[in-house]
Amino acid sequence: MDIKLVSSSNKKKVIDLGNGVKIGDGEFTIIAGPCAVENYEQLEATAKFLNKLGVNVLRGGAFKPRTSPYSFQGLGFQGLKYLRDVGKKYNMKVISEIMDPRDVERAYDLVDVYQVGSRNMQNYSLLKELGNVDKPVMLKRGMTATVNEWLMAAEYIALEGNDNIILCERGIRTFENYTRNTLDLTVVPIVKSLSKLPIIVDPSHGTGMRELVATMARASVVVSADGIMVEVHPSPDNALSDGFQSLDFSMMNELINQVDILKKYMNELE
Ligand code: PEP
Ligand code: MN
Repeated sequence: MDIKLVSSSNKKKVIDLGNGVKIGDGEFTIIAGPCAVENYEQLEATAKFLNKLGVNVLRGGAFKPRTSPYSFQGLGFQGLKYLRDVGKKYNMKVISEIMDPRDVERAYDLVDVYQVGSRNMQNYSLLKELGNVDKPVMLKRGMTATVNEWLMAAEYIALEGNDNIILCERGIRTFENYTRNTLDLTVVPIVKSLSKLPIIVDPSHGTGMRELVATMARASVVVSADGIMVEVHPSPDNALSDGFQSLDFSMMNELINQVDILKKYMNELE
């Protein structure tokens, strides 16, 4: 392995988003929101609910990498503007995926964290572009990426000068097809031993089944992840994307209560 800049031989990285949100400092950060920004009302209702629960990082896809070109592709920059407006209204930091290196600069004022999706983990032009930006990047694991390939992708960003990188485990492709992906929680301690970067878990894409999300969120606390990213929708069955893995408000409420209890327990153990 050739991991240099993101290796654990360097000082542990804490990603400070402002507003008291620090990823990697021992807190358990919850990032939540809809898979896709569908319209202002949907996003506003979700943010209002999440904010009451103390969630202060809002997710919402505006550029959606869908398997079929006929599926909803996202609202593009209009979606990012809704995200920015709603984030301001509820004093929440916002994160969204950018797929095209040409969109990085234009999105600069609209996002607090740039997301690199699983399908773009090895899009080296995108990684290099994000390496030149002074905002954090969340790098999702490629669905067939080894730990080494993932950390080397992070190294590409860091080599350009930006080492404000959060890793996100979102499940990998295996022979198992009961779940959408196989959530590989072993990478949390592995990445922590190899890298200085914080790592969060996405149990929504990691399972593809809403009834498994809370359980795997709890497991993420137990393996000492730095947080989770969860898909939440006011009416999951009517969502334009990933409704089957999105939580409704009452399921999300329950998840947060469970995570809070476990987090306290884990603090006592450490
Ligand atoms: C997402 O988080 O919006 C997403 C598309 O996930 P992934 O890139 O992990 O498939
Ligand atoms: Mn999704």
